[in-house]
Amino acid sequence: MAEKRDYYEVLGVSRQATDDEIKKAYRTLAKKYHPDLNPGDKEAEAKFKEAGEAYEVLSNAEKRRRYDQFGFAGVDPSYTAGAGGYGGAGGAQGFGFDDIGDIFESFFGGGGFSGFGGSTRTRNPNAPIKGSNVEITIPLSFMEAVKGCQKTITIKRLEVCSDCGGTGAEKGSAVETCPDCHGSGQVTVQQRTPFGVMQTVRTCPHCGGKGKIIKNPCKKCGGKGRVRVTRKLDINIPAGIDDGQTFLVRGQGDHGINNGPAGDVAVTVTVRPDPLFERDGFNIWCEVPITYTQAVLGDEITVPTVDGKVSYTVPEGTQSGTVFRLRNKGVSYVNGGGRGDQYVKVSIEVPKNLSSKQKELLKEFDKLSSDKNFEKRKGFFDKLKDMFD
Ligand SMILES: [Zn+2]
Ligand SMILES: [Zn+2]
Repeated sequence: MAEKRDYYEVLGVSRQATDDEIKKAYRTLAKKYHPDLNPGDKEAEAKFKEAGEAYEVLSNAEKRRRYDQFGFAGVDPSYTAGAGGYGGAGGAQGFGFDDIGDIFESFFGGGGFSGFGGSTRTRNPNAPIKGSNVEITIPLSFMEAVKGCQKTITIKRLEVCSDCGGTGAEKGSAVETCPDCHGSGQVTVQQRTPFGVMQTVRTCPHCGGKGKIIKNPCKKCGGKGRVRVTRKLDINIPAGIDDGQTFLVRGQGDHGINNGPAGDVAVTVTVRPDPLFERDGFNIWCEVPITYTQAVLGDEITVPTVDGKVSYTVPEGTQSGTVFRLRNKGVSYVNGGGRGDQYVKVSIEVPKNLSSKQKELLKEFDKLSSDKNFEKRKGFFDKLKDMFD
């Protein structure tokens, strides 16, 4: 029997296609391949029939459901799948599709069975499997995260047992290939049903699917081939990493099975808050208090950055809350290629605990002040006046 094409593929629609889409796709194909329009064209005739069959199934909700679940076997009792499929369903006469569906479901609990239409892949029990990732969380200071650092971490991971080399068999004893499944880990079981003999593929009960028999398990690993070991690792924390982010240390996780590659160590960092700096992505914010006089007259002030102190000239008449930017003083991008900026917010500290002399001088100062010294205040009172007068 020629390989049957998937009905959805035949109609060129997705598995989620609506009834309308299915109808439209069928009409297009039926017009294109109609025998009357393609006299003597065997290929067109075959395509026309194929489309018709696909439409018959997919346009019927019940048949479509059955097809989605069981493939061709769900809608055609005479269908014989390839290797591993069910054979000899010849006795099915007298059973409607419904009966077959019910029987499938009672056998296999409605899906999850193997062997129909090659839809289930069988896995070689001896194939290499990658080791799992080991997860760890480490705390960092603000500066460690910004600058990157080296840390020694302690992890527990599965390593190939040094006594048996991962075979799971005690030294000097052999690992035998399972005689029941010949190493495949699976056996084909035949079952008698009302309409013939059905074959299903099951995990080999003798070896539990491993494909091999260990008569004398290794004492160190208990036959598992791997043992849990505590290891110290020196790792480099990449500069620029932020709170809650994870990076991978490749190849340092659990060792693989059957010579598979090792997993990774997934390191998640938590960053402690800093008293001076705050991060916003790759930019850094900090607040610098200045005196009233510095704000009024302007001054050179000292600003902390992650690279150390820098001086910055605050201009005359700087207002409270003014933010200035120090380019390229932020956090390095984790993937290289530059860094963010630092934003410095100036806050003016109003002086407290003044002596009477200081108060005197300020009052003196105030007497000499006029509206042109306080533009904002003047503007505010002008507006207030407009509003109420
Ligand atoms: Zn061992
Ligand atoms: Zn076996």
